[in-house]
Amino acid sequence: AVLLGATFGMLVGLLTTWMLYTHLRPGKEILTGIKREQFYVVYQPVVDAAELKVTGLEVLMRWKHPTAGEIPPDAFIHFAEAQQLIVPLTLHLFELIARDAPVLQTLLPAGTKMGVNIAPGHLHAPNFMDDIRQFSQSLPPHHFSLVFEITERDMLRYKEVSEVFQCLHDEGYEVAIDDFGTGHSALIYLERFTFDYLKIDRGFVNAIGTETVTSPVLDAVLTLAKRLNMLTVAEGVETPEQARWLREHGVHYLQGYYFSRPMTLEQFVVWQPPPFAS
Ligand code: C2E
Ligand code: CA
Ligand code: CA
Ligand code: CA
Repeated sequence: AVLLGATFGMLVGLLTTWMLYTHLRPGKEILTGIKREQFYVVYQPVVDAAELKVTGLEVLMRWKHPTAGEIPPDAFIHFAEAQQLIVPLTLHLFELIARDAPVLQTLLPAGTKMGVNIAPGHLHAPNFMDDIRQFSQSLPPHHFSLVFEITERDMLRYKEVSEVFQCLHDEGYEVAIDDFGTGHSALIYLERFTFDYLKIDRGFVNAIGTETVTSPVLDAVLTLAKRLNMLTVAEGVETPEQARWLREHGVHYLQGYYFSRPMTLEQFVVWQPPPFAS
């Protein structure tokens, strides 16, 4: 089921990317989209599993295209990467977050973690650390603790990336390996790079309670994370059974529709955490 889900997701992504290529003018569309404010961000709470309290949020990008409608990020991120536009798009994302930050600051206590997705291509860009510093300076000082989420989808060039991770850590940022368990080289990355968090792909979480009683692969992943001193975040938590299993197995943070869908700032302002989380 995990494999099927991942394959299906990839197919949908590829199909949408192909549709984008054939129906839109490549490249220009993204730059126009940035200029015309077609991109916006949503925020999804991340809950501490022991306390059931919101301790963080993940920022997710959205594209409301005037003719194609809502384009999912799984499609336009690939598109932006292929068009060499991921850096301007991410810088625009940083601006959108900075714009919302004063309001977010009133809703969330100091120390709240803010997860931001970074495309592997951006990590290799020469200005990456400068971009991060500038982004950080655009946020209320010392309020949010930034966590950069990186997917294992692409081969990360070893030397440069370990230097970038070192810089990030030296300057107080944290790094998460995203979608863990869906790529080919996952284990190699864990050995080579220091990640603070391991985000368990929702394919694994999905399988809890539907397949065998225990999940040996997920168990092994959790053991591995512990051995490597990484905190674990489960994505795609949708049911109380999944939340219970994950808490009982010592997963540190939970994220998913069970707690909240990703929300616009306006929705977040009026959001009430469900009674079992605060
Ligand atoms: P991701 O980083 O793994 O983000 C989590 C995805 O799971 C999000 O999809 C979120 O809406 C979805 N999700 C959260 N809880 C649940 C749940 O309980 N059930 C289900 N079925 N899904 C859940 P989304 O927003 O469509 O984003 C898809 C992917 O696009 C992200 O996966 C990330 O890899 C990429 N992405 C999104 N925003 C950005 C961005 O600003 N920059 C970059 N580089 N990538 C982004
Ligand atoms: Ca992510
Ligand atoms: Ca993920
Ligand atoms: Ca994903």
